[in-house]
Amino acid sequence: MMSNTTRDRTDASLRHASARAVQDALPAPFWLDSPAAPEPHAPLEGDHECELAVVGGGYTGLWAALLAKERDPSTDVLLVEADRIGWQASGRNGGFCMWSLTHGAKHGFDLFPDENERLDQLGMANLDEIERAVAKYGIDCGWERTGDIEVATEPWEAAKLEEKREVWARLDQRITWLDREAVRAEIASPTYLAGLWLMNVALVDPARLAWGLARACEQLGVRIHEHTPASDLRRAGSAVAFTTPGGTVRARRVVLATNAFPPLLRRLKLRTVPIYDYALVTEPLSREQREAIGWRRRQGVSDGERNQFHYYRLTQDDRILWGGYDAIYHYGSRIRPQFEQRPTTFNKLAEHFFVTFPQLEDVRFTHAWGGVIDTCTRLCPFFGTAMGGQVAYALGYTGNGVASSRFGAQVALELSGQGRSSLSELALVRTKPIPWPPEPLRFGAIELTRWSFAHADSHNGRRNLWLRLLDRIGVGFGS
Ligand SMILES: Cc1cc2nc3c(=O)[nH]c(=O)nc-3n(C[C@H](O)[C@H](O)[C@H](O)COP(=O)(O)OP(=O)(O)OC[C@H]3O[C@@H](n4cnc5c(N)ncnc54)[C@H](O)[C@@H]3O)c2cc1C
Repeated sequence: MMSNTTRDRTDASLRHASARAVQDALPAPFWLDSPAAPEPHAPLEGDHECELAVVGGGYTGLWAALLAKERDPSTDVLLVEADRIGWQASGRNGGFCMWSLTHGAKHGFDLFPDENERLDQLGMANLDEIERAVAKYGIDCGWERTGDIEVATEPWEAAKLEEKREVWARLDQRITWLDREAVRAEIASPTYLAGLWLMNVALVDPARLAWGLARACEQLGVRIHEHTPASDLRRAGSAVAFTTPGGTVRARRVVLATNAFPPLLRRLKLRTVPIYDYALVTEPLSREQREAIGWRRRQGVSDGERNQFHYYRLTQDDRILWGGYDAIYHYGSRIRPQFEQRPTTFNKLAEHFFVTFPQLEDVRFTHAWGGVIDTCTRLCPFFGTAMGGQVAYALGYTGNGVASSRFGAQVALELSGQGRSSLSELALVRTKPIPWPPEPLRFGAIELTRWSFAHADSHNGRRNLWLRLLDRIGVGFGS
């Protein structure tokens, strides 16, 4: 991000200009506001039976349906989505398709020291498989494997980035260290001090990826029903059943892919909390504006050494998507459409944008939105089964699920009995994150953590007692 002194100089004129730049933005996700948006599938009507039922039409559910069909084309697969395919996180994210299954290499080593190298290889294979599927099904989602530059904007961030470079060196990853001149030669921001360019990251148009996966599912014979919320998951003889407004579904196996939404299994209630993350998109940049910032190799960028970090990237039509920083929790794990708009966050994001790119002072934002993230205490996905193994789930991607949702779907399918591999032996798959406490403790703990993050970021990254305690018990929090 920016240096403290720069941020402190966010004076009234910058605040005013930022608020003006964002004031006319459409309150909707840029990616979903697209002529490529498909017509909805009809809701489910009547009672249906199938071999595999998938609940949730984001990436996890879509990959589960697609992989099930690819493995055994004779499998009868039915997918229900409460609203529209990809309308939630999968259609409104930053589009950073990361190789990591563990929210980054360092976190992987901290959590799973004995298997992190394997997880790293699985993550790489997963990213390659997504790339192959995009090509195979002709999914027009602007796939660009340009990598991600983690930038440092303060000396303490640069020091942490150096440490990270050493962690990376222990893995078979392609990275490039960029000093101050080199990083600014890539992308012209006066705030950059250093950068670490991770090559194994692709950028996508997230909604078009979801829509393309749905089309591929249909081509293979998956039955898709939108506007079909599932409830009352239960045993029904040797099958499992659930209810929808138009009828019931009986299935031999069920994959739950409901992310941050109220789970159909009670036991999952305390495993994730919905955290809101926010993003802005600018108007398309003019040729002069584009030249003023360089960025010819179109990498994704993040200032991920901070606790409150930003992520940003170019879109195919040369807008800038600019997101992150705030991570907002609402008491009682509430999810509401009105929480997707948060003017104070949008103004703050716009201020940070103009500090990073002062040469773009005339640029306006056209879209502003938020979305909910299934945050778990270990920051990376967890898996499990219920009802004698006939129901499986994959949840808890915590803001890093564009790619790892494919891996999550693969694991959920295997846990529910389609195919067997050594994936179920991984500690990542066998273990679960520590549950969140009930309210009001949950709200208090999250707010204290948020405050501590902000404090650490403005004090050279120094973690207070609370954050050190969380580190000791291996618990994290983030978007
Ligand atoms: C603003 C934002 C930015 C992000 N940026 C990135 C990024 O750059 N890179 C990255 O890796 N990750 C990012 N993420 C996270 C990433 O988008 C998610 O991890 C990923 O999309 C999760 O996919 P999913 O299918 O599990 O969940 P979702 O896309 O949320 O899908 C779950 C679906 O289940 C449906 N559903 C829920 N309950 C029911 C029910 N009872 N019956 C039927 N349907 C139901 C919902 O309607 C929803 O469509 C971001 C998320 C947000 C919100």
